[in-house]
Amino acid sequence: MSASFIIAPPPQASIPVAGDSKVFPVRRIWCVGRNYLEHIREMGNDERAPPFFFAKHADMIVADGTTIPYPPLTKDFHHEVELVVAMKSGGLNIPAAKALDHVFGYGVGIDLTRRDLQQASRKKERPWEIGKSFDQSAPCGALQPAAKIGHPTKGKIWLSVNGTEKQKGDLTELIWNVPEIIAQLSEQVALAAGDIIMTGTPAGVGALKPGDKIECGIDGIGTLKVAIGQPA
Ligand code: MN
Repeated sequence: MSASFIIAPPPQASIPVAGDSKVFPVRRIWCVGRNYLEHIREMGNDERAPPFFFAKHADMIVADGTTIPYPPLTKDFHHEVELVVAMKSGGLNIPAAKALDHVFGYGVGIDLTRRDLQQASRKKERPWEIGKSFDQSAPCGALQPAAKIGHPTKGKIWLSVNGTEKQKGDLTELIWNVPEIIAQLSEQVALAAGDIIMTGTPAGVGALKPGDKIECGIDGIGTLKVAIGQPA
């Protein structure tokens, strides 16, 4: 017998799948802290450190084409374009050699960041939530199934603001590749179907303001457009 809910259950977060009417249900959103050398350098961080992970909540997903209100508390709201990996299965301690068997597909996403709050929490040795995990902080474009496109290891990743290119890199520049990320994250938590992983951003992060139009993409995977609106 299944229990009935005392209040209405929250809606299931999801991401569209390219060429399919079915959508991908999101369970957890994991993000890799630092994964492109040029971005580590622009932030003044240790180039040799192993990857680390932080989380956003599933309901922070934003669909392609959305206007996102400028978020509260920040004066330095940044874009970080990232390769998104979507899991169809998981487990604990997944070996890198088996990791891609668990991948449903790939997309392009933005790890929106309240940089001033992230940096203030880092200085105080506090968690990153206030800087990274907030409403509408995880725009994500349609997923491309690996069954159709394979497992991309190269391709330009880019982001423009109001038509001017701001971020540019290539998937070949990932310090930790997708199998290594899955292997390392699955030592920390059991991964499962519905988990997505944002794999880190290339150099060129910068501040956004109300009225900005953002377009980003990864060659061979897709594109994503969002706009920034006035504060809610
Ligand atoms: Mn990021």
